[in-house]
Amino acid sequence: MKTYQYFCDGQWRDPSSGLWFESDNPTRGAPWARIPRCNAEDVEAAVQAAHRCFSTGAWSRTNAAGRGRLLRRMGDVVVRHAEQLGAIETTDNGKRRSDIVEPLKTWLADSFYYYAGLADKVEGAVIPVDAPDLLNYTRREPYGVCACITAWNSPLLIAIWKMAPALAAGNTLVLKPSEHASASTLALMEVLAEADLPPGLVNVVTGFGPEAGAALVDHPLVRLLSFTGGFTGGSHVAAAAGRQAKPVIMELGGKSPQIVFRDADLELAVHGVASGIFPPSGQSCISGSRAIVHRSLYDQFVRSLCEVAGRARLGDPADPMTQVPPIANRSHFDRVLQAIETAKKEGAHCVLGGVPTHLPELGGWFIGPTVFTNVTPQMQIMREEIFGPVIAVLPFDDDEEAIRLANDTDYGLAAGLWTADTARAIGFADRIQAGTVYINNYYNATTQSPVGGFKRSGYGRENGLEGMLAYLQTKSIWVSTAPHQPNPFP
Ligand code: NDP
Repeated sequence: MKTYQYFCDGQWRDPSSGLWFESDNPTRGAPWARIPRCNAEDVEAAVQAAHRCFSTGAWSRTNAAGRGRLLRRMGDVVVRHAEQLGAIETTDNGKRRSDIVEPLKTWLADSFYYYAGLADKVEGAVIPVDAPDLLNYTRREPYGVCACITAWNSPLLIAIWKMAPALAAGNTLVLKPSEHASASTLALMEVLAEADLPPGLVNVVTGFGPEAGAALVDHPLVRLLSFTGGFTGGSHVAAAAGRQAKPVIMELGGKSPQIVFRDADLELAVHGVASGIFPPSGQSCISGSRAIVHRSLYDQFVRSLCEVAGRARLGDPADPMTQVPPIANRSHFDRVLQAIETAKKEGAHCVLGGVPTHLPELGGWFIGPTVFTNVTPQMQIMREEIFGPVIAVLPFDDDEEAIRLANDTDYGLAAGLWTADTARAIGFADRIQAGTVYINNYYNATTQSPVGGFKRSGYGRENGLEGMLAYLQTKSIWVSTAPHQPNPFP
């Protein structure tokens, strides 16, 4: 079993607690690695290292063009080691190898290149103020030490989405991956040694949310928090940050609707809806877990969805033929099964799946695509994020009902619209309360376009120019251009 150390000040260290915990391979249902259990003492060391690098170390002397050069090297390293990093993430959280290796080589490496290009293009402004003899201009400055707390479903993606803009903006970082999937973030730091990062620039502490995570959130030298996770963890972190008036970027969960209109291309819609939830086993924040289908298509839609999803091949996420991977950890596997049981008890009809799938040659935690009908908007399955391969399908009769059902959720991360009438879809997109709306496609994201949530799905944006501005604070500078200062006490 591989034993990891945590990464602090450019060095690999044992946790001061002397304790490690096991990380499971969900495909096998067995432990495969030992992860350091960091505590407040380790967090202190990591934050101090990041602070030194920001205020007195190499980073404070690196100009924007130099930061860009470093980010380009980081992107190159990620491309070179994509296979190795992808293999570790697949082992650790069961993500399909194809869903991480290609992205690392392409659009996740592009995150580094995009923000490398932006690093020296962030400008302030000269403001024409209503005051005589005064020049006013603004600068955008980094915060200092930023803490990035990430979720287990896509640790590398989430870490890179935070790391690239935060560093380009001139900050230093302490990353805290989820206890359920820390290995790929540690492996990223191993390979990034080739990019020649100054000590303390990026530090990784591992361990438990209420221990290492809370110590990081509370540390007074941490000036900004970027959190990706569930609503419960997020609201704890936001409350703790609020006590110290720390800014927070919050990327939380979703209960995203997929609306299929009467004029939709049914085959396209069925495949779009199925691939909007099942390929990561529903373990994506933007999973379209509520299908809202025009009544005229409803029966046929449900039949086709069950046919398509019922054929999906469950298996080893390292196998390119696998379509549905395991559930990433045992406790989450139990939670998904519990949610399925609750849906059945509340009267929803399970028309596909709904039970664990035993794959004797693997032995891990698998649940096949699960489809529910006969659902009502009040049921738990319609209101709470299940984060599993579980979709609820309900009919609508007219456009107003569709929009009402789509927006009848505490969340607002994403929505999909399937229709032949693009003009109508654009009107609908305006009325959907979500940070991302897809029209006749789903799941697309690139570095250039901001992502983030409405309502309980969070606030702040990642990616794009907004993603970098989130890591910068504006300073306003006033310069007297008068030959003499007025004397306030003549
Ligand atoms: P959690 O909220 O449980 O955990 C997220 C991170 O926060 C983990 O590193 C966790 O550590 C840490 N944490 C938990 N409690 C605290 C605390 N009190 N103080 C500091 N840190 C804490 O989320 P999951 O890991 O279960 O991830 C799944 C969720 O993430 C889903 O809701 C999903 O929708 C969301 N998500 C959102 C995305 C987006 O971009 N909007 C993208 C991907 C996922 P530990 O694991 O050790 O408890």
